Amino acid sequence: MHCPFCQNPDTKVIDTRVGEDGYAIRRRRECPKCGRRFTTVETAQLLVIKRSGNSEPFNRDKVISGVRKACQGRPIDEDELKELGRKVEEDLRSRGLAQIDSDEVGRAILGPLRDLDKVAYMRFASVYQNFENLDDFEKAIKDLREQESAADTAKDAKVTHSAEQHVAEPHGAERHTTGRK
Ligand SMILES: [Zn+2]
Repeated sequence: MHCPFCQNPDTKVIDTRVGEDGYAIRRRRECPKCGRRFTTVETAQLLVIKRSGNSEPFNRDKVISGVRKACQGRPIDEDELKELGRKVEEDLRSRGLAQIDSDEVGRAILGPLRDLDKVAYMRFASVYQNFENLDDFEKAIKDLREQESAADTAKDAKVTHSAEQHVAEPHGAERHTTGRK
């Protein structure tokens, strides 16, 4: 890597650190010729393609500041916002793609935000999905209610299921589970 100050083709790494989430490596470098120092960051490439067709590197802080606007006045603290940003980045990076549509980023935010705060979710969804009238809100609220009751049902089913399994255990629970799929 060339020195950005004097273009000397040789620089020395003096410190290497892995970012707190493991997504980036930071290297502190020094130029042996001019003695100046600079930092390089190495990450797997993840470009966000905007609707205009322009692209920019994925930026977790942008996700967080977008969500923060939707969270104004809601009981959500900075740590929860940070955690949401982390989840969104993890979700997107786990797809293993080098580029992703900005719509996908918005969609990846919806799930974790819904879990965090329903009101903030509605605000964010109304902007992101271009709600135009009350019907759009009504529909989104209906979906939200349905998801909530489906989640409750799933929870109940899980409890019943594990109770059943517990009873079935003496007769070979292992065969029971492997035969399932
Ligand atoms: Zn230099």
